[in-house]
Amino acid sequence: MTYASVIVDVPAKQTDRAFDYEIPEKWEGFLQPGMRVIVPFGPRHIQGFVVSIKNTTSVNKTKKISSLIDITPILTKELLLLAGWVRDHTLCFTISAFQAMLPAALKAKYEKWLIAKNLELVPAELALFFQNSNRVRFGDIEGTGHFKLIKQLIEDNVLEVYYEVKDKLSKKTIRIVRPNRSQEELIKAKDQLSNRAAAQHKLLDYFIATKREQAVKKNLLEELQIGTSAISALVKMRLLQEADEEIYRDPYENRSFKQSENLALTPQQQATISPILHSIEKGKHDGYVMFGVTGSGKTEVYMQAVDAVLKKGKEAIVLVPEISLTPQMVNRFKSRFGSDVAVMHSGLGMGEKYDEWRKIHRKEVKVVVGARSAIFAPFENIGIIIIDEEHETSYKQEDTPRYHARDIAIQRGKYHQCPVVLGSATPSLETFARASKGVYQLLTMDKRMSDQGMPKVEIVDMREELREGNRSMFSRDLLEKLHIRLDKGEQSVLFLNKRGYSSFVMCRDCGYVVECPHCDISLTYHRISNNLKCHYCGYEEKVHETCPSCDSEHFRFFGTGTQKVEEELTKLIPDARVIRMDVDTTSKKGSHEKLLQQFGDQKADILLGTQMIAKGLDFPMVTLVGVLTADTMLNIPDFRSSEKTFQLLTQVSGRAGRHLLAGEVVIQTYSPEHYSVELASTHDYLSFYQKEMQLRKAHQYPPFYYLALVTVTHQELTKVVDVTEKITNFLGMQLSKEAVILGPVSSPIARIKDKYRYQCIVKYKKEPNLHEALKTIVEKYQAQMDQEKLSIHIDLNPYMLM
Ligand code: ADP
Ligand code: ZN
Ligand code: ZN
Repeated sequence: MTYASVIVDVPAKQTDRAFDYEIPEKWEGFLQPGMRVIVPFGPRHIQGFVVSIKNTTSVNKTKKISSLIDITPILTKELLLLAGWVRDHTLCFTISAFQAMLPAALKAKYEKWLIAKNLELVPAELALFFQNSNRVRFGDIEGTGHFKLIKQLIEDNVLEVYYEVKDKLSKKTIRIVRPNRSQEELIKAKDQLSNRAAAQHKLLDYFIATKREQAVKKNLLEELQIGTSAISALVKMRLLQEADEEIYRDPYENRSFKQSENLALTPQQQATISPILHSIEKGKHDGYVMFGVTGSGKTEVYMQAVDAVLKKGKEAIVLVPEISLTPQMVNRFKSRFGSDVAVMHSGLGMGEKYDEWRKIHRKEVKVVVGARSAIFAPFENIGIIIIDEEHETSYKQEDTPRYHARDIAIQRGKYHQCPVVLGSATPSLETFARASKGVYQLLTMDKRMSDQGMPKVEIVDMREELREGNRSMFSRDLLEKLHIRLDKGEQSVLFLNKRGYSSFVMCRDCGYVVECPHCDISLTYHRISNNLKCHYCGYEEKVHETCPSCDSEHFRFFGTGTQKVEEELTKLIPDARVIRMDVDTTSKKGSHEKLLQQFGDQKADILLGTQMIAKGLDFPMVTLVGVLTADTMLNIPDFRSSEKTFQLLTQVSGRAGRHLLAGEVVIQTYSPEHYSVELASTHDYLSFYQKEMQLRKAHQYPPFYYLALVTVTHQELTKVVDVTEKITNFLGMQLSKEAVILGPVSSPIARIKDKYRYQCIVKYKKEPNLHEALKTIVEKYQAQMDQEKLSIHIDLNPYMLM
């Protein structure tokens, strides 16, 4: 008797462990760790993941597994292990970690098929099922009980498994025709055919002459000018065979990629790649920070490192932020590695995503380029993991499990003993601090590829503009520079930062922003109460009618939209052709790409957009970049706001002058003296890093302290306050005196979907009891969470404090 340890799909503390089930005899040797099954659980039948197989169990009465979901493991041994790590480090349930590793299609409804890759090799026991087609539903064949045989055939590549997703975009197949006999037999058969069967002669001639193994039916009918009956007749005589061949929904199928070769590396690129190549060669896990200015040739180095990994027969994961997974970026990898690349990003449909995942699972590709979740790519022989723009906060998942792709990369890097490369022009403080301490090796690339060097950056003080009577969103300087570009036929990019929730209050005359006296972050405006509030400590004050600093009346709620900017722009420069890119103009699939294509083809003079245009774009004719308001990001209630501002301004500036023409950048701001604006304009990351580190230290923020965020939500305000208060008190008792516990306080977004949100933030250096204390909290409230729709989220190392 063998048993399977199964983690069931009930995300709760009580069920967050493996349960033993008896494996029915027919599945012995067939069932493997990493497969999903259906098991009886209490009165229900539910899904579960097999994590191990064993010969004994300490459980007295075991129940039997009721049915199989998977026919082959969908999680590797490594990923099963990794889920435990994710559970312990993000405080989620193991089942949630498993689910996060799979493409959504595998969580939806689907049908299991077995596809015969070579009909000749299908043994007699199963041949009957494959008589009419090379595809058979697993459900039809299941009754035979030939599980061990099927497993063997799958391993021998005679059969393969396909999950047909039941969505609108379900898989595509194409009907093909192939000879079912050897060449000699075909020739013999042709001689015996009646002379009147002209079409059948044509068909056999075709396969005899071309020696083709198969042909697409539709093309065959067209090419030979015959009808389907000829094919059917030969199929009946078992000379030919028809089958459905699956074709991938390749999202890039209609484009051709010019093959590109490795470029000769510059000395700086050479110096950067050589330690990485050394780690690849030695099969060593080393962490690298590739600190390279925009346009320094980091991507070329990534590609050559990947190339070296492929030559060793290993695989590569390249993470790119969703927002810069532009066609340009994809093209670069596709043109270098061709069909060895799978691309995974959220723009793909569920079926398309599954196809890409499946190429990885079946080892048909060796490289995945993708956004955050691609870090779980089921490769089994990883030779390098690269994270481009590693500072991007989108690498942190905001839903359970709240993991950071960077941490997963390090874990997988250790498991596979391979290098992990974190690349950025503006590394996160956490990462750079680790590099400074020697945890990661620092590789610096301070020269741009183009001879133009870094673009010249000019800061325009918008308070000054206002004082001189210019009430428009465009400074005179920026307008003049836009005109010049128009005259010369060069292009400009205008960037409007909208990510920062624009609910802070600022003086348009002096740039004064109201900040919390205790927390050094801006206060948030609350329209309902007409109050300004601090979302870290709860401090609040009334809104002032005039600026407390200069008494100006231009003291108000701040915010602008791209559409408004476009209107003003077309009024100011009527003959400029403008492309606007924001959530409204890019909501349709493919529109993002189309707009960029138009801009690349110089069908517009100005590209106006939000952060979706900040990254990864590389247009040779762009010589001017304008940032309309540098401040929006600066004033969001987040201790990372300076860092984000610096990163964004640096990224945006990097879009100018990447090629032959020199670039210029204009940053409009109400706080020109702010260090993150000033240092971004001089491209001085190191000074920024030092300055920001001092502030983080003084205010006890990461990387000097860790953060834990507990968010409580419920329909009733009193309930939320009460629970959060109890949690805060409980943590106060469990943790050491060194831990700083802030709260209870309302979340910056105080109500979502009619539910109130409260939070408690813990700042700490070392709290061995913290995880246990947080788990206890979840456990204690479990019943209420199930029954009363109370929810308690725990985020270790949060990136969103909203
Ligand atoms: P980054 O990723 O650091 O922003 P890129 O890799 O995009 O920089 O390089 C900037 C430009 O320089 C690209 O157009 C790229 O093709 C080109 N480039 C990179 N490396 C080389 C090289 N060794 N020789 C010639 N051109 C290069
Ligand atoms: Zn003022
Ligand atoms: Zn405060």
